[in-house]
Amino acid sequence: MYLSILFPSILALYALYKNKITISGIILAWLLAIIICYLGGYTAFLALTTLFLLTILSDKIKSNSEDKTRNIMQIISNVLTAAICIILYYVSNNNIFYIMYYCVIAGSLSDTLASSIGTLSKSKPINIFTLKKLKIGESGGVSLFGLFISLVGGMIIGAIYLIVEFNLINFIIISLMGFLGSFFDSIVGTLFEAKYKCLKCNKKTDNKIHCLKKTKLIKGYSFIDNNMVNLLSNIFIFILSYLILK
Ligand SMILES: [Zn+2]
Repeated sequence: MYLSILFPSILALYALYKNKITISGIILAWLLAIIICYLGGYTAFLALTTLFLLTILSDKIKSNSEDKTRNIMQIISNVLTAAICIILYYVSNNNIFYIMYYCVIAGSLSDTLASSIGTLSKSKPINIFTLKKLKIGESGGVSLFGLFISLVGGMIIGAIYLIVEFNLINFIIISLMGFLGSFFDSIVGTLFEAKYKCLKCNKKTDNKIHCLKKTKLIKGYSFIDNNMVNLLSNIFIFILSYLILK
């Protein structure tokens, strides 16, 4: 019990020190991490820690990121679904929810890596539907390298599960769910995510404000931002992995 509070606290203090998450975001992340560690065990917590550290690392790589401090909405969209899996596992004692937890975390990590390392590739990503080439880093596009990286993301979380549970089939399912989560993210991002244009500097942006001025919506729906896409992707993996595992 004490360690379940201690470990998440170390992570929270690290995030606070690095100024990576807003205060309200840290408090929620800290609480969710304690729930995951206490109810799900240290392996589940290790998967969460891996997601957290690799997200921070990939933020460093990402060159086009406009806002690197994560807020409470980003914590909700990336960790809440996973925490719900662990709570369901604890309440029902059904192992399916435990595996689903890794699937959801894998989806988040795959997407994070694909949208950071995946964009380092020299080849331009393409829009899945129009097959037109996109600018590097523009969300919604896929590249072969990005797809490969998202599979690696899924396999990292799958490997953490494998070390403890020795179940190869579940390892494959977790790896594939990571990959599919990232792919789903791209599709929803392409179709529905809000894109804005700054009326002052003419740059395309994900933000409603740019150059201290309100931007103009040029694509998608204003209520579907990147956090919403991530949340929908997590829910998609939650449902899909349940259907496969049940
Ligand atoms: Zn601007």
